[in-house]
Amino acid sequence: MRNFELYVPTKMIFGKGEIKKLSNEVPKDKKVLLLYGGGSIKKNGIYDQVKTALKEHTVIEFSGIEANPEFTTLLKALEVIKNENIGYMLAVGGGSVIDGTKFLSSAALYEGNDPWDILANRIRTVKGLPFGTVLTLPATGSEMNSGAVVSRSETNEKMVMGGPGLFPEFSICDPTVVHSIPKRQLANGIADAYTHVLEQYMTYPADAYLQDRFSEGILQTLIEIAPSVIKDPSDYKAASNFMWCCTMALNGYIQKGVPTDWSVHMIAHELTAFYGIDHARTLAVILPSAYTKKFEHKKEKLAQYAERIFNITEGTIEEKAKEAIKRTEGFYQSLGIDTRLRDYTDDYEGFSKKVAKNLTDHGMTALGEHQDITPEVAAEIVEMSY
Ligand code: NAP
Ligand code: FE
Repeated sequence: MRNFELYVPTKMIFGKGEIKKLSNEVPKDKKVLLLYGGGSIKKNGIYDQVKTALKEHTVIEFSGIEANPEFTTLLKALEVIKNENIGYMLAVGGGSVIDGTKFLSSAALYEGNDPWDILANRIRTVKGLPFGTVLTLPATGSEMNSGAVVSRSETNEKMVMGGPGLFPEFSICDPTVVHSIPKRQLANGIADAYTHVLEQYMTYPADAYLQDRFSEGILQTLIEIAPSVIKDPSDYKAASNFMWCCTMALNGYIQKGVPTDWSVHMIAHELTAFYGIDHARTLAVILPSAYTKKFEHKKEKLAQYAERIFNITEGTIEEKAKEAIKRTEGFYQSLGIDTRLRDYTDDYEGFSKKVAKNLTDHGMTALGEHQDITPEVAAEIVEMSY
């Protein structure tokens, strides 16, 4: 196992009816900015619960943070933070609202001229404006990690940022919020969390037995609960396990002491940047090609995953590993997610070159656990995914 440090300061408040605890978690001596998305929280009752819990606080609202949060929208929120002297933020939403809030946390204290530089120059945020979250969509793990992804559609860019200053102070995860999530987003959440685990697991053996078992436990649980969550999102047993799996998939624990990949995410982000395809679906398109391309490096872990997750005990390492890639693609498809780029667009000629250029421009020239996925290799992976 590799050396590691683990720092995860977010207080997690999990369970039915816990949104009311906001009244104690959000400081009363600061002006609070409540951030949310396109209004789903007004239809499903979460907004009312939040407002009731904050009735003794001074709250200003900013809504309209879109899926794949846009830099230009966030700049408008930044103006509100500065003009209103906001001292605390509360994100109520999925990964997009929480990530947007993380960007604002950083930008509010940033002293440079252009906050886009935080993303473009990969500036790590050591101190941010404090914030908490109410999670409405299990998927990204953003509620318990310090990363964020921000998009800029006018330049076809989708960039990551992070730093120890960007952990939420607390996150409230009430699994009853799952009941109103549309099937498409439920499938996305399951696929995103599943892929997060694979990014940290599917590398090469690192003698980290517990991390492997943690990862395999999350994968197995997601496979187990997926049909129930999609069939009936108000099934509390399924929803609560779904929610905790998504958090555990990307809260730092399973990545400690092991090599990690993340090339699937970095390449897949380009599919959202150019075509606006849902994040989780872009992962399902890229992962099978990426694992086929890096087969020699990943085959031992692929075979272990085949044995432990899919119970494939017959065959050579290579045979098991190939079957593992097929089963993974089959799992995405079982969620109703298409796994080829041509399923989403006819306009993919020349796209791989644009991906290579964007990755080069953003300094992502050595991706993957061996740092051997150059922009040219990434372009090949994209072509294999057509
Ligand atoms: P999302 O973009 O936050 O939300 C997707 C849609 O679901 C929105 O239209 C939202 O509507 C709706 N929704 C949310 N909660 C709902 C509920 N309870 N009932 C009904 N509808 C609901 O989805 P996401 O998958 O959580 O986030 C995706 C973003 O996170 C991407 O930009 C991705 O790149 C990023 N990401 C971040 C991390 C990280 O670690 N930070 C990791 C992976 C991905 P409203 O707008 O009306 O609320
Ligand atoms: Fe993701």
